[in-house]
Order: sequence, then C-alpha cells, then structure tokens
Amino acid sequence: MSDRPPSVDSLARVVTAGSSLPHALAVRCARLAIASGGDFESLALSLARGLELSFVQPVINATGVLLHTNLGRAPLDSSFFGFDAGARPTSLEFDLNTGNRGSRLAAVAALLAELTGAEDALVVNNNAAAVLLVVGALAAGRDVAVSRGESVEIGGGFRIPEVLEQSGARLVDVGTTNKTRASDYARAMAKHGNDIALILRVHPSNFHIEGFTQQPSLGELSALGVPVVSDIGSGLLDARCPWVEGPAPAWLHGEPAARQTLADGAALVAFSGDKLMGGPQCGIVAGRADLVASCRAHPLMRALRPGGQTFIALQQVLLAFATKRACTDVPFWAMATASVESVYERAQAVVASLGTALGGSLGARVEATDAVPGAGSTPGATIPSAGVVVDGDRCAQLRSRPVPVIARREGDRTVLDLRSVAPADDAAVVESLSSLTVS
Ligand SMILES: *Cc1c(COP(=O)(O)O)cnc(C)c1O
Repeated sequence: MSDRPPSVDSLARVVTAGSSLPHALAVRCARLAIASGGDFESLALSLARGLELSFVQPVINATGVLLHTNLGRAPLDSSFFGFDAGARPTSLEFDLNTGNRGSRLAAVAALLAELTGAEDALVVNNNAAAVLLVVGALAAGRDVAVSRGESVEIGGGFRIPEVLEQSGARLVDVGTTNKTRASDYARAMAKHGNDIALILRVHPSNFHIEGFTQQPSLGELSALGVPVVSDIGSGLLDARCPWVEGPAPAWLHGEPAARQTLADGAALVAFSGDKLMGGPQCGIVAGRADLVASCRAHPLMRALRPGGQTFIALQQVLLAFATKRACTDVPFWAMATASVESVYERAQAVVASLGTALGGSLGARVEATDAVPGAGSTPGATIPSAGVVVDGDRCAQLRSRPVPVIARREGDRTVLDLRSVAPADDAAVVESLSSLTVS
C-alpha cells in the first residue's frame, strides 16, 4: 500500500510492463488510478486488464447458440476476407473486362439471382438498412400497409413503426394482432386509394404467437396488385437447402426462405447476410429488377453500402452455396449440420484429454444438450447436441483464459456446448479447462 501517489510516468511504466497496452493507454490507466487513490499499482493494473479485455478479440463460443449476436453472429475464417492474398488491392469497383469503373454489386447480384431466383439484388450494411432503404426508396410520402401482428420490434431497437417513420412513409395498420385477412388489406387499399405504395410483411423472428391466429398467404397478397415486400429476416436462401445432403434439416421447419418467398409472389425480399446465411454482416434486397433499380438509385444507397471486405466475404460465401460446399466451407452450416454423434465423440475426447484426476476434480462429464441456431432465427427450434459439463460456475474463469471461452451457466453447473465450437478449437477448450484451478 502506498498513500503517496507515484509519478504518472513511473506508474505507467509498471502498467506497460504488466500488460499488452500501448504506452499512451498505460498512461491513461496510471492517471485514472492516481486520481482515484488507494493501492495505485494494483488499481492501475486492474484498469489496464479491463481495458485489454475491452479490445475485440477472437473467442471460443461454447454457448450452444450458433449465431450469437454478442459474439458477432456468423463466424468466418479470415480467408473469407482476403483471398489469402496479403495486402493486394482488389477489383472492387473496376471492370476487368473494359478497364473502366465497375460495380461492386455485379458478382454478388448474379450469384444471389442464381441462388434465389431473383431478377436482381443489392447489398447494404445490414437488414435494418435494407428495410429502411426499400421503404424510403419505394414509399416515401406514401402509405405502407403492415399487419398489426407484424408491427414488431426485433433485436436491439429495430421497430417497424419507427423505421417507417424515419423513411418518410406512413404506416397503415391492417387487421388485428392475431388475425389479419387478405380482405383487411383490400379494405385498407379501398380506403387509401392509390396512396398505398407497398404491402410490407415482416417475419416476427424472435417470438411467435400460437393459437387463434391467421395471416394471408403471399399469393393472396400479391393478387391485390401492390408490390409485396417481405422482410424474412434470417436469410435462408432456399427452403430445400440444395447445399445439404439429404432433406433440409428439421430445425429449419417453417423458416421462410428467399427463393420460395419470391416464387410465392413477393416482389422483393429483405434479409440478413449474417443470420442463417452464415455470411458477413450485411443486408440483402432481392427480387424484381425495376424495384431493385429504384432502391439502388436512391441517395440512401450510397450511405448504406458496405465496405469492400464485406463484398469479398459475401462473394466467397455465396460461391460456397452455389458449388454446394456450404456445409464444409461456411462455418455456420458446418456447425449446424454436423452429426450429433460427431459432436458427442468430440465431447468425450475433450473429457478424456483432461485425464481422470483433473476430470474427476472438475466433475467433467459429457451430457446431451440442445443447441440453437440463434440470432432470432427459428424461435423454439433446437439442434440436438452434446457438451462438456463441469461442476460449479466456471464462466468467469473460462472467460479470462488467453483465448476466452464463453460457456453457459445452468444452476451450479457450467456447460460447454461443442456444436458452436469449431472442431479445430477442441484442443484450446481442453487447455482452458486444464488451467482451471480446483479448490
Ligand atoms: C434480424 C432482423 C432484422 C434486422 O436485421 P439486422 O441484419 O440485424 O439489421 C430485421 N428484420 C427481421 C425480420 C429480422 O429478423
């Protein structure tokens, strides 16, 4: 304990020696510690540790939530972002055919058309931006019909009425919370005349209403003569999952997909690239060419477009779907479709690697678990999985390993679900568990 404060410089040197922080940030911690008083050295070091942990860094997701919003949703290998070509520039907006300026959208639009049956497509920063752009470009100053049961809030503050308000479109409330019929939309159209520019359908994603419910089919809605835009949310490209061997996975049951939504009559679909598609964070609008062109020409497009890294990663992910390699090359699809037996075997191998003595003192064992796709996709659906379970709440300790492991606490046990862990990380899981201290 010291009650006379040290100099900022000498304390900062202690912090620099005891952390990975650059000197400027070490000085910041030293200043803060001196201002707070007390045990300056341990305070400065603990401030430094807090700051170090605030840096974005790779973690191991053992939560069993495959698309974990707090962990960046879909994991992607770094090779998706750079073709393994080091620091070379790319032909992002350069047309190698003509030598003139090109469009960053050309290749991904062609791939998306192939994969979903859309005439054309565009990409923005996320799906919230996609919906904002569509209603802003196609319905500003006009009315948009939305079923009361779909006027929802999704995730952190994406609220349909507020998005419409921002876009300059007016919300026309149709039907009731649990039941909306095609005739309700028809009545709204008769009342508002030509002012209804769009019918917006929104997949409620992270909740569902059960029981006495009804929604019209897309076919019924598109027959009303106004373009139907469907925000399907999670980005399943095709309900038949042609990239999966055998039938589509059971946990997808009922999840709307882009191809079928367009085939059933939607003029446009909007979805996230980093939910069930398993790609980088982005939002995609796909469907009728004239409507996509109007969205592309809107001034918001320039403000909402993603950077080059996103296009490179998206292109690689879409190529993996187009060549039916998604279940090996797209990490989310590899994790989601691994056999439960293979996950179980990995969990057994992890427990075996701990050895009898350590494994015994941690109470390590293998148990059946339920993993979930996550990110508000397929609410209620689970994917059978297996995990390593240890006694006590070990979450904080596992989180502070050199490679942080994010586990799940269930009562007085800690569960490490291996379905959301890349098999290549099993050794790191063993290492983290091995370094737990047993009291
Ligand atoms: C997740 C979701 C959004 C928001 O998508 P982001 O890519 O997170 O911006 C919008 N609509 C629906 C239906 C969703 O599920």
